[in-house]
Amino acid sequence: MGISGLHLLLTYKCILECDHCFVFGGPNAKGAMKIADITEICREAKKLGSVEWIFFEGGEPFLYYPIMLKGIKVADDMGFKTGIVTNPYWATSIEDATEWLVPLTKLGVSDISISEDTFHQMEEERNYPGYAKEAAERLGLPIGAITIEEPTPNVSERSGLEGDVVTGGEVMFRGRAAENLVEGLPRKPWTELRECPHEDLQKPGRVHIDPFGFIHLCQGITLGNYKETPLSELIKSYDPSAHPICAPLIEGGPAALVKKYDLEHEDTFVDECHICYRARLSLRDRFPEYLAPGHMYGENEE
Ligand code: SF4
Repeated sequence: MGISGLHLLLTYKCILECDHCFVFGGPNAKGAMKIADITEICREAKKLGSVEWIFFEGGEPFLYYPIMLKGIKVADDMGFKTGIVTNPYWATSIEDATEWLVPLTKLGVSDISISEDTFHQMEEERNYPGYAKEAAERLGLPIGAITIEEPTPNVSERSGLEGDVVTGGEVMFRGRAAENLVEGLPRKPWTELRECPHEDLQKPGRVHIDPFGFIHLCQGITLGNYKETPLSELIKSYDPSAHPICAPLIEGGPAALVKKYDLEHEDTFVDECHICYRARLSLRDRFPEYLAPGHMYGENEE
């Protein structure tokens, strides 16, 4: 498969615990990548030959700031383009944000994406994303925003299509969002949820890699653990038709996953990811190596 991007979940830890977070990020989350992990991942990425981008995300990668910087340098030295996804909790003023960002100007970072929405708002009177953007622009750093719209029951009015089930923004109802945000939202019959709308499981263009070594095709669906088998081998040998979770998802979406394993389920769901996440939860005992780690299924939740 032609993987062009590796997204490193430097940590699952975050200062916030957003309802829409599908990796269950939060202050009590465990695990962080080491410099040696990042170096090994980059070396293995080189062997693949197709990887162009290494992203640093989480959780919140700025919580492990020196490791993030070193990781970016390692990736940059090996010829990869690098990006960061951050909730700019560190941008408490333009002056302070500048201090955080100056080291990045020497590392050739190609993309900084900041979270800017009501989910990530820390203190209403403070404009953290604004400070981060202003500081980055003054330093000539490439910066953009990721905005997640809060899903509401009346979103169909906003869509202008009567009866249309639109959940707004980019919220995907997997992980914590499938637990916390589905209440009161419009639903569809499960039989209509016949394709995976967000990931190309047949020919993935990117994977996420977490601090425990798991390689995720979608968050919580793994193709293995690079701490047991080298990353390049795992990616090169990926056979979607032999993957017990991806094969049915490719064939007929989450509805096929439910049918294949004859799972008990509700009649309606908010979207494809909602039923997919629920189905995977009930399959975890059966396929522990493919549906991991527990953290992606809320096992670290208080
Ligand atoms: S349907 Fe399942 S595999 Fe596809 S994006 Fe949603 S959660 Fe991921």
